[in-house]
Amino acid sequence: MPTGKIGVTTENIFPVIKKFLYSDHEIFLRELVSNAIDATQKLRTLASFGEFKGELGELDVRVIIDKEAGTLTVRDRGIGMDADDIERYINQIAFSGAEEFLEKYKDTANSIIGHFGLGFYSAFMVSKKVEIRSLSYKEGAKAVEWSCDGSPEYTMTETDKTDRGTDIILYIDDDSKEFLEQQRIDTLLRKYCRFLPVPVICGKEQEWKDGKYVDTDKDKVVNATEPLWTKKPADLSDEDYLKFYHELRPGEEDPLFWIHLNVDYPFNLTGILYFPKLRNNIDINHNRIQLYCNQVYVTDQVEGVVPEFMMLMQGVIDSPDIPLNVSRSYLQADSQVKKISGYISKKVAEKLTKMFRDDRKEFEKKWDDISIFIKYGMLTDEKFYDASKKFFLFKDVKGEYYTLDDYRKLVEADQTNMEGNVVYLYSTDKTAQYSYIQAAEEKGYSVLLLDGQLDQHIVQMLESKLEKTMFVRVDADTPERLIVKKESDGSNLDALESDLLTGIFRSQMPEMNNVNFIVEYNALKDSDAPATLTQNEMMRRMKDMSALQGGAGFYAGLPDMYSLVVNTEQPAVKTIVKEAVGAIGSKVTPIRKQIDETNDVIKTLRTELKEKKDDKAALESRISDKEKEVMELRGKEEKIVKDYAAGVPVVKQIIDLALLKANMLKGESLAAFISRSIQML
Ligand code: ADP
Repeated sequence: MPTGKIGVTTENIFPVIKKFLYSDHEIFLRELVSNAIDATQKLRTLASFGEFKGELGELDVRVIIDKEAGTLTVRDRGIGMDADDIERYINQIAFSGAEEFLEKYKDTANSIIGHFGLGFYSAFMVSKKVEIRSLSYKEGAKAVEWSCDGSPEYTMTETDKTDRGTDIILYIDDDSKEFLEQQRIDTLLRKYCRFLPVPVICGKEQEWKDGKYVDTDKDKVVNATEPLWTKKPADLSDEDYLKFYHELRPGEEDPLFWIHLNVDYPFNLTGILYFPKLRNNIDINHNRIQLYCNQVYVTDQVEGVVPEFMMLMQGVIDSPDIPLNVSRSYLQADSQVKKISGYISKKVAEKLTKMFRDDRKEFEKKWDDISIFIKYGMLTDEKFYDASKKFFLFKDVKGEYYTLDDYRKLVEADQTNMEGNVVYLYSTDKTAQYSYIQAAEEKGYSVLLLDGQLDQHIVQMLESKLEKTMFVRVDADTPERLIVKKESDGSNLDALESDLLTGIFRSQMPEMNNVNFIVEYNALKDSDAPATLTQNEMMRRMKDMSALQGGAGFYAGLPDMYSLVVNTEQPAVKTIVKEAVGAIGSKVTPIRKQIDETNDVIKTLRTELKEKKDDKAALESRISDKEKEVMELRGKEEKIVKDYAAGVPVVKQIIDLALLKANMLKGESLAAFISRSIQML
């Protein structure tokens, strides 16, 4: 009996295979079935070239479980192997430098397979002995039997096999008995072989009889040999695509649309990608897209293979250029795979451009659902951003859609500020910011609705990409000052009046947790609101962004800052100022005078201090005494103002109206406002 040594340089390659590949040992079945399919396809090819003239017969692959014998057999009716073939393809596996390689990569078992194409040998992960019984298609070929028990020694003899093809017989190891269970094998075949191009048969169809399932005579075919993506798009209807989608993802809503990929240059790629309905809920599920290589399932971990934003899509991609046996990191580094990713991104952009051009109304209807993909794509993929400029849509608060160019044209004339920036006004919450939107619209401005999950980022990005463009939320300032077109006239208040005004309002602002109020004043129109609450755009954005990034960092810790902008032209405000001057002006004026004088003294002292070389202590303590004096005086002034303001209910009323408009008047304060309003009536 001829025996020999398998051509590996490492004596103990099999234990290594077993050990290192343990976590992934189920892939042996994929490898063996793939080999069987290959052998079958090769025979078909030979037949089509007239190089094989015999009967093809039923070309199928069978997976046979024999529990009693403890074997799992993969049987094909393909080209088979003769002794020479086995010598060349099986015995002489190219393991140059194997030891070195294994040492280097011992943590990443998958790369070992990928690097060496261990295909057939993965059988040893689950077997104590493997036999090959094969009869080649070649005329006059002799059947051979090869056997190996996991050591590098093998035996090869002639045998009596009479039908063409190969049986790979695995004597399943004691610790791998699961692979003798029909159910386990069914699951694996469904995972790896569901769309293989040759019928794969395992067991029999079952039927319900006398209260239990029993085998029928009919072979159970586990795969669909012509999955949808291998067919021509022209031959397929929407129903076909939807049906296939529901096979892939049972129980999900119909997808919004799909893209049938079909290229053969510069690489081969077919596939169907579906856009599921997901609205504003980004949940990046990492196994929505399945990767195939010639209909053999490779993985559903597609990070790096498809562009990141397309992780939201679902479907299949099939490319013979995707290396079958490799780890994910290897896959991602592969230059073919990188090209594939770029190509898919381009295809998606083309499809969207076409949808937009063909039927803009229909595209607008889908926009709310698909915008999340597009925005995600724009944010993560520079090329996609460039392409998306053609079909990206803004939606305004009225529900109208505009392209970037259209919108620019729409607002350019009215919404350019004095620095020449076009100001895009937006709302993040139509209900909460209703009165601000209304005020902006009354001024003839357009307001965008940017309430999506990614819109904060989109705003930042567009500001940097679009020239002379600025985004401002409608409540960032008073309507008058949202878009500043000329230097403001300030107000007509003198120093006493403005001090009293801000003092009065400041003293009546509510205490709120983690909220700071600043009081400002501005001469708006007399018909405008007496006061408006605004939130500085930049501060708010910083806080929002850090909240998006998990709520850490400097900005996240700051309180919310609001400005109460009091309108000095509004009649009620005018009255407040006038009456305050009359009532407490004479009390406050001398204090203010004293403050000014004391401040002057402090100033002189400080200059003295600067010039003085030694004996500074006495001077310093005088300064600090004077500073204390000022503080006390201010306290005194504040108290007078506060006591006075407390007796002017209209101040609180004006503040509450501003809070109410900003949706910030709640609970007890709201109740107090209501009863005060009733009293005022
Ligand atoms: P790979 O499939 O990556 O080439 P394998 O170790 O799985 O590596 O197989 C080595 C070679 O053995 C194959 O290329 C093929 O020529 C041959 N072979 C394996 N299985 C079969 C089979 N069932 N029928 C015919 N030839 C086979």
